[in-house]
Amino acid sequence: MSLNLYNTLTRRKEEFTSIEPGKVRMYTCGPTVYNYAHIGNLRSYIFADVLRRTLEYFGYEVPQVMNVTDVGHLTGDVDSGEDKMELQAEKEGRDIWDIARYFEDVFFDDIEKLNIEPPNVRCRATEHIDEMIELVKKLFARGHAYETAQAVYFDVTTFPKYTELSRQSLEDKMTAARDEVQEDPEKRNPADFALWFKAIGRFEHHIMRWESPWGVGFPGWHVECSAMSMKYLGETLDIHTGGEDHVWVHHPNEIAQSEGATGKKFVRYWMHGAFLVVGKLSVDEDDEERRMGKSEGNFLRLQTLIDKGYDPLAYRYLCFSAHYRAKLKFTWESMDAAASGYESLKDFAARAKQIGGEEQPWVAEHRKKFEEAIADDLNMPQALAAVNELIREADRRKEYGVLEALYKFDEVLGLNLRESAEKATIADAEIDNLIKERENARAEKNWQRADELRNQLAEMGIVLEDTPSGTLWRRSN
Ligand code: AMP
Ligand code: ZN
Repeated sequence: MSLNLYNTLTRRKEEFTSIEPGKVRMYTCGPTVYNYAHIGNLRSYIFADVLRRTLEYFGYEVPQVMNVTDVGHLTGDVDSGEDKMELQAEKEGRDIWDIARYFEDVFFDDIEKLNIEPPNVRCRATEHIDEMIELVKKLFARGHAYETAQAVYFDVTTFPKYTELSRQSLEDKMTAARDEVQEDPEKRNPADFALWFKAIGRFEHHIMRWESPWGVGFPGWHVECSAMSMKYLGETLDIHTGGEDHVWVHHPNEIAQSEGATGKKFVRYWMHGAFLVVGKLSVDEDDEERRMGKSEGNFLRLQTLIDKGYDPLAYRYLCFSAHYRAKLKFTWESMDAAASGYESLKDFAARAKQIGGEEQPWVAEHRKKFEEAIADDLNMPQALAAVNELIREADRRKEYGVLEALYKFDEVLGLNLRESAEKATIADAEIDNLIKERENARAEKNWQRADELRNQLAEMGIVLEDTPSGTLWRRSN
């Protein structure tokens, strides 16, 4: 079966092939660690995880690299404003390094709770300043970089394919950039972006700073991803992922820097996850389709969901309700629906584990449907539909030899089905005895006692199912 993935660069689905057989070099733009990640950010990482797991499902080894932006990401798009990290440190009156490490830890806890496979390499911008300086030197040597009194920039007019990914015209790009605050009168073109900021003028008090051939300062945000991805994965990557906002600024800049420095193709497949949007969270917000943004004060954290009693994996399940290239609107109704969908899936897995049986030939068709769905540009709504069809069919036929198929699907779904089915069905002599007692009561037509026992078991979180071959029980999740 061929795996087809949508490549933002060509705006079409393409059959996926890797540079090296059996191995996919994948880079995922990581978090800027000045604040908690919100569930929108996390949607992007769930998408990248499903991509990685799908590649693994089809037999690839996937060395994945993720950066941690702990310096250099400014609040404005065209290098205007302040460094987000420094701003937060100032606001909180805390040490900037503490802030960076704290939010990095929380981020990696969150992704673990969401069952997102950890990247093979996790790299901090602040630990790769030398690699960034080397890259900028190469860009000078190849005529792409220039220095002003305030900074070092990439001259976008020296790179003809600058807008290939975004498909904007360079003209439009320049006009848009001209409208934003331009902090440096010496910039050659409004769309030029910073590779290095000098710790002078507006950045005179920048705390994080390093020596460089262009004076003491700190790197621009985009250069870290070029330097670190190429360090760990080589000059050409198979897949690069990020949120859809990166199609217009961050990723064109990465391409310009990387290809400008090496003269080689940087990334073969660019893949972008669409945003999670939120409806009204308060009465004064009139924009229904607000993106959830870290700096927009309207964000929900994974912890917010946990505090409200949701299983983090129910949020993962919710993300499968929309294709990764479609916006997903978060509502509490959809969160509840996902939570109950996930509960019934786990309940079915526990039931299938108890009843068991040989896999029958009809299961093959459902395996195929599931695989076709994931191979078709990670169509998770369809994959989930295939899972639900399998469940319905098993219940209809009363044939439960489907666990192996379900566990196999879960390699991509990442919903811990095996773990929860096992936990739900761990044997327990006390419960077995209560059930036996209830069966005896029923045999003696002592309905009152049987009901009492059922209630007692229910209070213990035990679900009973009376089948022709006796009573089955499992723990509710
Ligand atoms: P940041 O930590 O701001 O650098 O963002 C981390 C990742 O989250 C990036 O890949 C962004 O594109 C992505 N992202 C930001 N906002 C959203 C959102 N509302 N929905 C989905 N992804 C988002
Ligand atoms: Zn990046």
